[in-house]
Amino acid sequence: MKLNVDALRYLSKDDFRVLTAVEMGMRNHEIVPSELVDRIASLKHGGTYKVLKNLLKHKLLHHDSSKYDGFRLTYLGYDFLAIKTLVNRGVFVSVGRQIGVGKESDIFEVATEDGTILAMKLHRLGRVSFRAVKSKRDYLRHRSSFNWLYLSRLAAVKEFAFMKALEEHSFPVPNAVDCNRHCVIMSLVQGFPLVQVKQLQNPEMVFERIIGLVIRLAEHGLIHCDFNEFNIMIDDDEKVTMIDFPQMVSVDHRNAQMYFDRDVECVFKFFRKRFNLSFQEIPDDIDDAEVDMDESGRPCFSSIAKGFGFLDKDLAASGFTRKDQEDIEKFIEGGVEKDADSGDEENEDGGLASELNESDISGVDSLHLVEQPTLNCDAEGRVEENEQKTEAG
Ligand code: ADP
Ligand code: MG
Repeated sequence: MKLNVDALRYLSKDDFRVLTAVEMGMRNHEIVPSELVDRIASLKHGGTYKVLKNLLKHKLLHHDSSKYDGFRLTYLGYDFLAIKTLVNRGVFVSVGRQIGVGKESDIFEVATEDGTILAMKLHRLGRVSFRAVKSKRDYLRHRSSFNWLYLSRLAAVKEFAFMKALEEHSFPVPNAVDCNRHCVIMSLVQGFPLVQVKQLQNPEMVFERIIGLVIRLAEHGLIHCDFNEFNIMIDDDEKVTMIDFPQMVSVDHRNAQMYFDRDVECVFKFFRKRFNLSFQEIPDDIDDAEVDMDESGRPCFSSIAKGFGFLDKDLAASGFTRKDQEDIEKFIEGGVEKDADSGDEENEDGGLASELNESDISGVDSLHLVEQPTLNCDAEGRVEENEQKTEAG
Protein backbone atom coordinates (compact mmCIF):
# COMPACT_ATOMS: atom_id res chain seq x y z
CA MET A 1 0.00 0.00 0.00
CA LYS A 2 1.31 3.44 -0.94
CA LEU A 3 1.73 5.83 1.92
CA ASN A 4 1.51 9.42 0.88
CA VAL A 5 2.18 11.52 3.94
CA ASP A 6 1.99 14.89 2.16
CA ALA A 7 -1.49 15.48 3.46
CA LEU A 8 -0.22 15.09 7.03
CA ARG A 9 1.40 18.49 6.75
CA TYR A 10 -1.84 20.19 5.83
CA LEU A 11 -4.12 18.54 8.34
CA SER A 12 -5.30 20.88 11.06
CA LYS A 13 -5.87 20.19 14.72
CA ASP A 14 -9.58 19.89 13.95
CA ASP A 15 -8.86 17.26 11.31
CA PHE A 16 -6.98 15.17 13.88
CA ARG A 17 -9.62 15.80 16.46
CA VAL A 18 -12.30 14.37 14.19
CA LEU A 19 -10.09 11.50 13.01
CA THR A 20 -9.45 10.59 16.64
CA ALA A 21 -13.16 10.87 17.37
CA VAL A 22 -13.86 8.28 14.66
CA GLU A 23 -11.22 6.00 16.16
CA MET A 24 -12.81 6.35 19.58
CA GLY A 25 -16.24 5.68 18.13
CA MET A 26 -14.89 2.48 16.61
CA ARG A 27 -14.43 1.05 20.10
CA ASN A 28 -17.99 -0.09 19.87
CA HIS A 29 -19.20 0.79 16.40
CA GLU A 30 -18.15 -0.82 13.17
CA ILE A 31 -19.40 2.25 11.36
CA VAL A 32 -19.47 5.28 13.62
CA PRO A 33 -22.67 7.32 13.21
CA SER A 34 -21.99 10.87 12.06
CA GLU A 35 -23.79 12.35 15.07
CA LEU A 36 -21.58 10.35 17.41
CA VAL A 37 -18.44 11.60 15.67
CA ASP A 38 -19.78 15.11 16.03
CA ARG A 39 -20.56 14.59 19.69
CA ILE A 40 -17.12 13.15 20.53
CA ALA A 41 -15.23 15.77 18.51
CA SER A 42 -17.49 18.56 19.81
CA LEU A 43 -16.30 21.18 17.37
CA LYS A 44 -18.14 24.47 17.40
CA HIS A 45 -20.79 25.47 14.88
CA GLY A 46 -21.22 22.07 13.25
CA GLY A 47 -17.59 22.17 12.12
CA THR A 48 -17.33 18.38 12.22
CA TYR A 49 -19.14 17.90 8.92
CA LYS A 50 -16.78 20.09 6.98
CA VAL A 51 -13.83 18.31 8.49
CA LEU A 52 -15.31 14.90 7.69
CA LYS A 53 -15.51 15.91 4.05
CA ASN A 54 -11.86 16.89 4.05
CA LEU A 55 -10.83 13.60 5.69
CA LEU A 56 -12.85 11.69 3.11
CA LYS A 57 -11.12 13.56 0.32
CA HIS A 58 -7.74 12.44 1.67
CA LYS A 59 -9.04 8.86 1.99
CA LEU A 60 -8.44 8.79 5.73
CA LEU A 61 -12.04 7.76 6.31
CA HIS A 62 -14.53 5.58 4.57
CA HIS A 63 -18.13 6.72 4.32
CA ASP A 64 -20.88 4.15 4.68
CA SER A 65 -24.56 4.94 4.35
CA SER A 66 -25.89 1.44 3.80
CA LYS A 67 -27.61 1.29 7.20
CA TYR A 68 -27.16 4.79 8.56
CA ASP A 69 -24.87 7.66 7.82
CA GLY A 70 -21.47 6.87 9.31
CA PHE A 71 -17.71 6.58 8.97
CA ARG A 72 -14.85 4.23 9.71
CA LEU A 73 -11.09 4.69 9.61
CA THR A 74 -9.17 3.46 6.58
CA TYR A 75 -5.72 1.99 7.03
CA LEU A 76 -4.34 5.31 5.85
CA GLY A 77 -6.32 7.11 8.54
CA TYR A 78 -4.95 4.70 11.13
CA ASP A 79 -1.42 5.20 9.72
CA PHE A 80 -1.78 8.95 10.08
CA LEU A 81 -2.89 8.69 13.71
CA ALA A 82 0.07 6.46 14.59
CA ILE A 83 2.57 8.59 12.67
CA LYS A 84 1.26 11.81 14.19
CA THR A 85 1.53 10.35 17.70
CA LEU A 86 5.09 9.12 17.14
CA VAL A 87 6.15 12.41 15.57
CA ASN A 88 4.64 14.29 18.54
CA ARG A 89 6.65 12.03 20.84
CA GLY A 90 9.79 13.01 18.96
CA VAL A 91 10.52 9.46 17.77
CA PHE A 92 11.05 10.59 14.17
CA VAL A 93 10.51 13.69 12.05
CA SER A 94 9.96 12.45 8.51
CA VAL A 95 8.86 9.42 6.49
CA GLY A 96 10.98 8.26 3.57
CA ARG A 97 10.90 5.52 0.98
CA GLN A 98 9.27 2.14 1.28
CA ILE A 99 11.87 -0.56 1.92
CA GLY A 100 9.75 -3.65 2.30
CA VAL A 101 6.38 -5.12 1.53
CA GLY A 102 5.61 -8.10 3.67
CA LYS A 103 2.61 -10.34 3.43
CA GLU A 104 0.88 -8.34 6.05
CA SER A 105 2.90 -5.22 6.56
CA ASP A 106 4.49 -2.25 4.84
CA ILE A 107 7.95 -1.10 5.87
CA PHE A 108 9.27 2.43 5.43
CA GLU A 109 12.35 4.36 6.34
CA VAL A 110 11.84 7.19 8.79
CA ALA A 111 14.39 9.79 9.90
CA THR A 112 14.99 11.11 13.40
CA GLU A 113 15.83 14.71 14.18
CA ASP A 114 19.59 13.97 14.12
CA GLY A 115 19.29 12.23 10.74
CA THR A 116 19.39 8.63 11.94
CA ILE A 117 17.36 6.37 9.67
CA LEU A 118 15.03 3.91 11.38
CA ALA A 119 12.57 1.34 10.05
CA MET A 120 8.81 1.77 10.50
CA LYS A 121 6.67 -1.33 10.17
CA LEU A 122 2.94 -0.77 9.66
CA HIS A 123 1.06 -3.99 10.35
CA ARG A 124 -1.77 -4.82 8.00
CA LEU A 125 -3.20 -8.02 9.35
CA GLY A 126 -5.91 -9.54 7.29
CA ARG A 127 -4.92 -7.70 4.14
CA VAL A 128 -4.20 -10.91 2.28
CA SER A 129 -7.31 -12.76 3.23
CA PHE A 130 -9.78 -9.96 3.63
CA ARG A 131 -11.23 -10.10 0.14
CA ALA A 132 -12.05 -13.78 0.29
CA VAL A 133 -13.67 -13.42 3.67
CA LYS A 134 -15.56 -10.28 2.84
CA SER A 135 -17.45 -11.77 -0.04
CA LYS A 136 -18.54 -14.86 1.86
CA ARG A 137 -19.10 -14.11 5.47
CA ASP A 138 -21.74 -11.63 6.33
CA TYR A 139 -21.03 -11.38 9.99
CA LEU A 140 -17.42 -10.59 9.24
CA ARG A 141 -18.32 -7.86 6.85
CA HIS A 142 -19.81 -6.05 9.80
CA ARG A 143 -16.94 -6.79 12.12
CA SER A 144 -14.08 -6.73 9.70
CA SER A 145 -12.51 -3.32 9.79
CA PHE A 146 -12.40 -3.16 13.47
CA ASN A 147 -11.00 -6.56 13.75
CA TRP A 148 -8.28 -5.63 11.32
CA LEU A 149 -7.41 -2.59 13.35
CA TYR A 150 -7.47 -4.59 16.55
CA LEU A 151 -5.43 -7.48 15.15
CA SER A 152 -2.92 -5.21 13.47
CA ARG A 153 -2.46 -3.38 16.71
CA LEU A 154 -2.07 -6.64 18.58
CA ALA A 155 0.54 -7.81 16.05
CA ALA A 156 2.48 -4.59 16.59
CA VAL A 157 2.30 -4.81 20.38
CA LYS A 158 3.48 -8.40 20.22
CA GLU A 159 6.27 -7.74 17.77
CA PHE A 160 7.55 -4.87 19.86
CA ALA A 161 7.42 -6.87 23.11
CA PHE A 162 9.20 -9.87 21.59
CA MET A 163 11.85 -7.76 19.89
CA LYS A 164 12.64 -6.04 23.19
CA ALA A 165 12.76 -9.31 25.13
CA LEU A 166 14.94 -10.97 22.49
CA GLU A 167 17.26 -8.00 22.43
CA GLU A 168 17.61 -8.14 26.21
CA HIS A 169 18.65 -11.77 25.86
CA SER A 170 21.29 -10.81 23.28
CA PHE A 171 19.55 -12.25 20.24
CA PRO A 172 20.52 -10.57 16.97
CA VAL A 173 17.33 -8.59 16.34
CA PRO A 174 16.65 -4.94 15.46
CA ASN A 175 16.62 -2.51 18.35
CA ALA A 176 12.98 -1.94 19.35
CA VAL A 177 12.52 1.83 19.53
CA ASP A 178 8.81 2.51 20.01
CA CYS A 179 5.35 1.31 19.19
CA ASN A 180 1.96 2.96 18.71
CA ARG A 181 -1.26 1.42 17.45
CA HIS A 182 -0.28 -0.88 14.52
CA CYS A 183 3.12 0.72 14.03
CA VAL A 184 6.53 -0.48 15.27
CA ILE A 185 9.66 1.64 15.04
CA MET A 186 12.96 -0.25 15.09
CA SER A 187 16.55 0.19 14.02
CA LEU A 188 17.30 -0.26 10.35
CA VAL A 189 19.08 -3.56 9.69
CA GLN A 190 22.05 -3.33 7.36
CA GLY A 191 22.30 -5.78 4.49
CA PHE A 192 19.66 -7.81 2.68
CA PRO A 193 17.18 -10.56 3.32
CA LEU A 194 18.88 -13.92 2.77
CA VAL A 195 16.55 -14.60 -0.16
CA GLN A 196 18.37 -11.90 -2.15
CA VAL A 197 21.85 -13.19 -1.34
CA LYS A 198 23.30 -15.24 -4.19
CA GLN A 199 26.74 -15.87 -2.75
CA LEU A 200 28.28 -16.20 0.69
CA GLN A 201 31.96 -16.30 1.63
CA ASN A 202 31.23 -18.90 4.20
CA PRO A 203 27.85 -20.56 3.78
CA GLU A 204 28.58 -23.30 6.36
CA MET A 205 29.26 -20.74 9.04
CA VAL A 206 26.14 -18.73 8.22
CA PHE A 207 24.11 -21.92 8.22
CA GLU A 208 25.47 -22.87 11.65
CA ARG A 209 24.65 -19.44 13.01
CA ILE A 210 21.13 -19.63 11.75
CA ILE A 211 20.40 -23.15 12.98
CA GLY A 212 22.11 -22.18 16.23
CA LEU A 213 19.56 -19.38 16.55
CA VAL A 214 16.59 -21.71 16.13
CA ILE A 215 18.02 -23.91 18.87
CA ARG A 216 18.83 -21.05 21.22
CA LEU A 217 15.33 -19.64 20.74
CA ALA A 218 13.84 -22.99 21.73
CA GLU A 219 16.15 -23.15 24.75
CA HIS A 220 14.63 -19.81 25.75
CA GLY A 221 11.17 -21.20 25.29
CA LEU A 222 10.34 -19.76 21.88
CA ILE A 223 9.75 -20.80 18.29
CA HIS A 224 9.86 -18.21 15.52
CA CYS A 225 7.33 -20.00 13.25
CA ASP A 226 8.27 -18.10 10.11
CA PHE A 227 12.00 -18.63 10.15
CA ASN A 228 12.91 -18.47 6.50
CA GLU A 229 15.08 -16.64 3.98
CA PHE A 230 12.70 -13.66 3.97
CA ASN A 231 13.02 -13.04 7.69
CA ILE A 232 16.77 -13.46 8.05
CA MET A 233 18.93 -10.48 7.13
CA ILE A 234 22.63 -10.82 6.23
CA ASP A 235 25.10 -7.93 6.17
CA ASP A 236 28.45 -7.57 4.38
CA ASP A 237 30.26 -9.32 7.24
CA GLU A 238 27.75 -12.16 6.96
CA LYS A 239 26.31 -11.24 10.32
CA VAL A 240 22.80 -12.58 10.78
CA THR A 241 19.81 -10.61 12.10
CA MET A 242 16.37 -12.12 12.48
CA ILE A 243 13.20 -10.09 12.02
CA ASP A 244 9.41 -10.49 11.94
CA PHE A 245 8.02 -11.77 15.24
CA PRO A 246 4.21 -11.51 15.35
CA GLN A 247 3.71 -15.24 14.83
CA MET A 248 6.15 -16.53 17.47
CA VAL A 249 4.86 -19.13 19.91
CA SER A 250 5.96 -20.73 23.13
CA VAL A 251 7.54 -24.19 23.18
CA ASP A 252 4.49 -25.16 25.23
CA HIS A 253 2.27 -24.65 22.19
CA ARG A 254 0.44 -27.81 21.16
CA ASN A 255 1.99 -27.65 17.68
CA ALA A 256 5.44 -26.62 18.91
CA GLN A 257 7.22 -29.67 17.53
CA MET A 258 5.72 -29.13 14.08
CA TYR A 259 6.61 -25.41 14.03
CA PHE A 260 10.14 -26.09 15.23
CA ASP A 261 10.72 -28.81 12.64
CA ARG A 262 9.30 -26.59 9.94
CA ASP A 263 11.63 -23.70 10.85
CA VAL A 264 14.60 -26.09 10.79
CA GLU A 265 13.48 -27.61 7.50
CA CYS A 266 13.16 -24.19 5.84
CA VAL A 267 16.78 -23.43 6.64
CA PHE A 268 18.08 -26.83 5.54
CA LYS A 269 16.13 -26.69 2.31
CA PHE A 270 17.24 -23.17 1.45
CA PHE A 271 20.93 -23.84 2.08
CA ARG A 272 20.82 -27.09 0.12
CA LYS A 273 19.22 -25.42 -2.87
CA ARG A 274 20.97 -22.08 -2.90
CA PHE A 275 24.43 -22.97 -1.57
CA ASN A 276 24.62 -26.68 -2.30
CA LEU A 277 25.26 -27.63 1.31
CA SER A 278 25.11 -31.36 1.80
CA PHE A 279 24.88 -31.64 5.63
CA GLN A 280 26.92 -34.84 5.68
CA GLU A 281 28.77 -33.59 8.69
CA ILE A 282 27.07 -32.06 11.63
CA PRO A 283 28.47 -28.55 12.05
CA ASP A 284 30.86 -28.08 14.99
CA ASP A 285 28.93 -25.32 16.71
CA ILE A 286 25.78 -27.30 16.79
CA ASP A 287 27.66 -30.38 17.88
CA ASP A 288 28.89 -28.45 20.90
CA ALA A 289 25.39 -27.67 22.03
CA GLU A 290 23.71 -30.26 24.20
CA VAL A 291 21.18 -31.07 21.56
CA ASP A 292 20.57 -34.43 19.95
CA MET A 293 20.61 -34.62 16.17
CA ASP A 294 18.69 -37.12 14.13
CA GLU A 295 20.42 -39.20 11.46
CA SER A 296 19.97 -36.41 8.88
CA GLY A 297 21.74 -33.91 11.13
CA ARG A 298 18.60 -32.03 12.16
CA PRO A 299 18.25 -30.96 15.78
CA CYS A 300 15.64 -32.89 17.79
CA PHE A 301 13.10 -30.65 19.41
CA SER A 302 12.50 -33.08 22.26
CA SER A 303 16.14 -32.95 23.35
CA ILE A 304 16.29 -29.20 23.77
CA ALA A 305 16.39 -27.99 27.34
CA LYS A 306 13.50 -25.61 27.70
CA GLY A 307 14.08 -24.14 31.09
CA PHE A 308 14.41 -20.39 30.70
CA GLY A 309 10.79 -19.63 29.82
CA PHE A 310 11.27 -15.90 29.45
CA LEU A 311 8.22 -15.78 27.25
CA ASP A 312 5.89 -15.77 30.21
CA LYS A 313 7.87 -13.62 32.61
CA ASP A 314 9.40 -10.94 30.42
CA LEU A 315 6.50 -10.67 28.08
CA ALA A 316 3.87 -10.47 30.79
CA ALA A 317 5.90 -7.60 32.26
CA SER A 318 5.91 -5.88 28.87
CA GLY A 319 2.14 -5.66 28.76
CA PHE A 320 1.66 -8.39 26.21
CA THR A 321 -0.71 -10.70 28.03
CA ARG A 322 -1.52 -14.34 27.64
CA LYS A 323 -4.96 -13.36 26.39
CA ASP A 324 -3.31 -11.20 23.69
CA GLN A 325 -1.14 -14.16 22.74
CA GLU A 326 -4.16 -16.45 22.51
CA ASP A 327 -6.11 -13.94 20.43
CA ILE A 328 -3.34 -13.44 17.96
CA GLU A 329 -2.47 -17.11 17.74
CA LYS A 330 -6.01 -17.90 16.75
CA PHE A 331 -5.72 -15.53 13.86
CA ILE A 332 -2.13 -16.06 12.82
CA GLU A 333 -2.28 -19.82 12.87
CA GLY A 334 -4.76 -19.58 10.04
CA GLY A 335 -2.22 -17.39 8.29
CA VAL A 336 0.63 -19.79 8.91
CA GLU A 337 -1.22 -22.70 7.40
CA LYS A 338 -2.28 -20.52 4.51
CA ASP A 339 1.38 -19.73 3.78
CA ALA A 340 2.31 -23.35 3.72
CA ASP A 341 -0.35 -23.87 1.09
CA SER A 342 0.78 -20.76 -0.77
CA GLY A 343 -2.39 -18.75 -0.88
CA ASP A 344 -5.22 -21.19 -1.18
CA GLU A 345 -8.27 -18.94 -0.95
CA GLU A 346 -10.59 -21.47 0.64
CA ASN A 347 -8.03 -22.21 3.25
CA GLU A 348 -7.49 -18.56 4.01
CA ASP A 349 -11.13 -18.07 4.43
CA GLY A 350 -11.68 -21.09 6.59
CA GLY A 351 -8.76 -20.32 8.85
CA LEU A 352 -9.94 -16.81 9.42
CA ALA A 353 -13.65 -16.93 9.58
CA SER A 354 -13.75 -19.83 11.96
CA GLU A 355 -11.25 -18.23 14.29
CA LEU A 356 -12.61 -14.72 14.69
CA ASN A 357 -15.07 -14.62 17.52
CA GLU A 358 -16.58 -12.41 20.17
CA SER A 359 -13.45 -12.48 22.28
CA ASP A 360 -11.53 -10.74 19.51
CA ILE A 361 -14.14 -8.08 19.50
CA SER A 362 -14.44 -7.58 23.23
CA GLY A 363 -10.66 -7.24 23.25
CA VAL A 364 -10.96 -4.12 21.15
CA ASP A 365 -12.32 -2.16 24.03
CA SER A 366 -9.72 -3.08 26.54
CA LEU A 367 -6.91 -2.45 24.12
CA HIS A 368 -8.23 0.85 22.92
CA LEU A 369 -8.71 1.97 26.48
CA VAL A 370 -5.03 1.46 27.14
CA GLU A 371 -3.66 3.81 24.55
CA GLN A 372 -6.68 5.71 23.41
CA PRO A 373 -5.78 9.35 23.10
CA THR A 374 -7.94 11.76 25.02
CA LEU A 375 -8.97 14.91 23.30
CA ASN A 376 -7.06 17.51 25.28
CA CYS A 377 -5.55 20.40 23.42
CA ASP A 378 -2.11 21.75 24.20
CA ALA A 379 -1.09 25.38 24.30
CA GLU A 380 -0.76 25.58 20.51
CA GLY A 381 -4.17 24.08 20.12
CA ARG A 382 -2.90 20.70 18.91
CA VAL A 383 -4.75 17.63 19.99
CA GLU A 384 -2.62 16.27 22.77
CA GLU A 385 -2.09 12.57 23.34
CA ASN A 386 -2.68 11.28 26.80
CA GLU A 387 0.55 9.37 27.12
CA GLN A 388 -0.07 8.22 30.64
CA LYS A 389 0.28 4.48 30.63
CA THR A 390 -2.07 2.20 32.41
CA GLU A 391 -1.00 -1.13 33.77
CA ALA A 392 -0.55 -2.54 30.29
CA GLY A 393 1.66 0.31 29.06
P1 ADP B 1 6.15 -9.27 7.18
O1 ADP B 1 5.70 -9.61 8.55
O2 ADP B 1 5.06 -8.58 6.45
O3 ADP B 1 6.78 -10.41 6.45
P2 ADP B 1 8.82 -8.26 7.74
O4 ADP B 1 9.06 -7.79 9.13
O5 ADP B 1 9.36 -9.60 7.41
O6 ADP B 1 7.28 -8.14 7.38
O7 ADP B 1 9.43 -7.18 6.73
C1 ADP B 1 9.30 -7.30 5.33
C2 ADP B 1 10.58 -6.90 4.65
O8 ADP B 1 10.95 -5.56 5.02
C3 ADP B 1 11.77 -7.76 5.08
O9 ADP B 1 11.90 -8.91 4.29
C4 ADP B 1 12.94 -6.82 4.93
O10 ADP B 1 13.38 -6.81 3.58
C5 ADP B 1 12.35 -5.45 5.24
N1 ADP B 1 12.60 -5.08 6.65
C6 ADP B 1 11.81 -5.33 7.70
N2 ADP B 1 12.32 -4.85 8.85
C7 ADP B 1 13.48 -4.26 8.51
C8 ADP B 1 14.50 -3.55 9.27
N3 ADP B 1 14.41 -3.37 10.59
N4 ADP B 1 15.56 -3.09 8.58
C9 ADP B 1 15.66 -3.26 7.24
N5 ADP B 1 14.75 -3.90 6.49
C10 ADP B 1 13.67 -4.40 7.10
MG1 MG C 1 8.54 -11.36 6.87
